[in-house]
Order: sequence, then C-alpha cells, then structure tokens
Amino acid sequence: MSVNKQAVSRAVFDEVILPVFAPAQFVPVRGKGSRVWDQQGKEYVDFSGGIAVTALGHCHPALVDALKTQGETLWHTSNVFTNEPALRLATKLTAATFADRVFFANSGAEANEAAFKLARYYASKHHSPYKSKIIAFYNAFHGRTLFTVSVGGQAKYSDGFGPKPADIIHVPFNDLAAVRAVMDDHTCAIVVEPIQGEGGVLPATPEFMHGLRELCDRYQALLVVDEIQTGMGRTGKLFACEHYGVRPDILTTAKALGGGFPVSAMLTTAEIASVMAPGVHGTTYGGNPLACAVAEAALDIINTPQVLDGVQQRHQLFINALNQLNQQHGIFSEIRGKGLLLGAVLKAEYVAKAGELVAAAADAGVMVLVAGSGVIRLAPSLLIEPADITEGMARFSDAIARVLAA
Ligand SMILES: *Cc1c(COP(=O)(O)O)cnc(C)c1O
Repeated sequence: MSVNKQAVSRAVFDEVILPVFAPAQFVPVRGKGSRVWDQQGKEYVDFSGGIAVTALGHCHPALVDALKTQGETLWHTSNVFTNEPALRLATKLTAATFADRVFFANSGAEANEAAFKLARYYASKHHSPYKSKIIAFYNAFHGRTLFTVSVGGQAKYSDGFGPKPADIIHVPFNDLAAVRAVMDDHTCAIVVEPIQGEGGVLPATPEFMHGLRELCDRYQALLVVDEIQTGMGRTGKLFACEHYGVRPDILTTAKALGGGFPVSAMLTTAEIASVMAPGVHGTTYGGNPLACAVAEAALDIINTPQVLDGVQQRHQLFINALNQLNQQHGIFSEIRGKGLLLGAVLKAEYVAKAGELVAAAADAGVMVLVAGSGVIRLAPSLLIEPADITEGMARFSDAIARVLAA
C-alpha cells in the first residue's frame, strides 16, 4: 500500500459522494470467495454477491489471471479497431445462445438502451415509424438512463426528470390478459425480466412467458428479455429463458457477465441486427479488450455442467436453510426464486423492518439485500461453499433474533 494514501472512512461518503446511495456503515476492503473483510478486519459471509454480479465469488483466480494478463497486453483501442477478446467472447456467446450478433456495452442500462433503440429502429425500418409502442411491466427494473428508467415500471425512479420518452405502456406483471388488452400493430416490443429482480424476486409464470412470445409473433413485435440479473448461470441455466423454452428476439445481460468487471451485452439475431449500420449506435468503451477478456474467463467457467448443476444443489441448501430459519423465527410468508436468485418475503408485520434486518445481518457478519418492498434477496456466488451457507445462515438467524427481540 502506498504511504501517501489518504485515510478514508464511511463518514467521508457523506462529504464527497452524490447522495443517491445509502451504503452500509462498514467499508469492505478485501474479498475472497464468499467472504469479505472491512476496514476494521471484521469478516462477512457474502450472500449479496454485489447484487448478482460476483457470480464466481471475490477475486476468482481465473478472473484475476485474465485481468492481469490482458492488463499487461492491451486495455483499450476504441471501436475504430476490433480486438481479439471481444471477438472470442462474442463467438462464445452466440454459440451458447439463440443469438447471431452481439453489441457490447459497459452496464445493464446501456445494454437495454441499445435493445430498446434497436427494437424501435427495426420496427421503423421494417414496418412504420409509428410502430414505436413498448409494453413493459409494473415494478420492472431496466436501468437508470432516462429511456430505461421510463421503460422500468416504477414512477419513483422516473418522475422529476422532465418529459419522458413517449409511447411506453405498463401493465401488471404475469397478467397476460392485461398485455393482450394493450397489444396492437403499433407495438414494437414487449420488454420482460424472466424474474423481476429489483421488483422483489418475482418469477414470470411459464404461461406468461409463452403468451408474450405468441403475442409478439402475432403482432410482429420483438420480445426483449432482460436477463441482466437472471443471466450467466444465476438460475442454473446460462440464461433463465431456457427454463421456459422461450426464444427471445433480443436478450440483454450484464451484472455477472464480467464477474465484477463492468461489461454488458445485447444479443440478437442476424435478421434483426441487419437493420443496423455503422454510426447508427455506438459506445467508446463497449467491448474493450480488458472487459471482454475477464468476461470470457467468466463465461468459460460458468457455462459448464459442473457450475450450472452446482447452482441447483446450492439452491436446495439455501431453501432448506431459509425454511429452517422460518421455522425458528416465523418471519417469512413465502420463499421464492430460481437457482441462486432467492427472495424471502417478509410477513406484512415485518416489512417495515427490512432495512433494520439488513443492518443487523451486517452487524452479525452476513451481507444480504432487500428487493421490492419487504423481500430479503440473496444472490450469492454460484460457487459458494456449503460451509459458507451454513455459517452465513447462522449469523442471519442471530440477526433476526436480535431484531425480533428489540
Ligand atoms: C441491474 C439491472 C439493470 C441495470 O444494470 P446497470 O448495470 O445498473 O445499469 C437492468 N435490468 C435489470 C433486470 C437489472 O437487474
């Protein structure tokens, strides 16, 4: 560590960072696998996975190696030139999915921004400039740019920023009749998360996903599946839409794609991609060699039967442990989710205590998340050790006991 590094603490956050976040009171400084240490050397079990990002845990040797090797080779060229890691990663992503073409960006929001622009552009080129309507769902989350936050179905995130992009309609999630009622020839796309993540770990029903596919086919609209949170093995398949057997027209992925290095991708077919031409859309950093080298290493590990099957085994360990917690404390009304994206829904009388529970969990040495209103969300490493699950759950149980006793 360099000697002139300024000493910083959590208090500095409030003095120098834009107050759009309210981070925990401790500052993590180091991580290994599913354990994290803070400035005071206190150790935590990580059930949060950086919000479904660090899918291979912290500082996985293969990712560290890819980062170091590429870091000593070539970082950035811009898209005026292509690069080997991007070409390799795109080849592997298309081989593993329905897709033939990939657009790389740096964040989930950017991948969705590209997806929504592509859906509208495709409709305007193939049908009519008036075919611009996007159907999306209440409590959906698609990112924080003005377009993506407008497609997201939470007014509290999109109000107050002036006029919103027009022609976006929201209907209730998992309500096919509601979609049917607003679907028409002017619709260019339906945008859906297979499991609403931020909205509260709420899985789409199979009938809903299949119904959306049929409606898109009937009205020549595109099905955009946002797998930014559910993708890259999170649910036990490379992408969650595989569970449903539903083929997207456009799929977006980010979060776990780089295992902690910022990178995202929009995947689509050759036919849809063919409306694009140089200059129609772009990015400076998207698809840079450093990000793509790390993502390639992550994909190589995640897209193996060993890791994907392991997600299902760990899912069962978590479900068993959460059920046991609930037998002890009786605070959850439902435990839901797929693979290692899990939501433990607090009973109505405990919903207001969600924040307190997360803070108490941190005190007890386990990192958990909240989603929606009153849902404890877990999105741990896909490689989390059974011993870490046991230890983290014991700490969480202590935290719950303390909150209930208060
Ligand atoms: C996190 C998330 C996004 C936004 O990703 P950023 O990298 O924060 O821009 C979009 N959609 C879903 C489903 C997400 O979970």
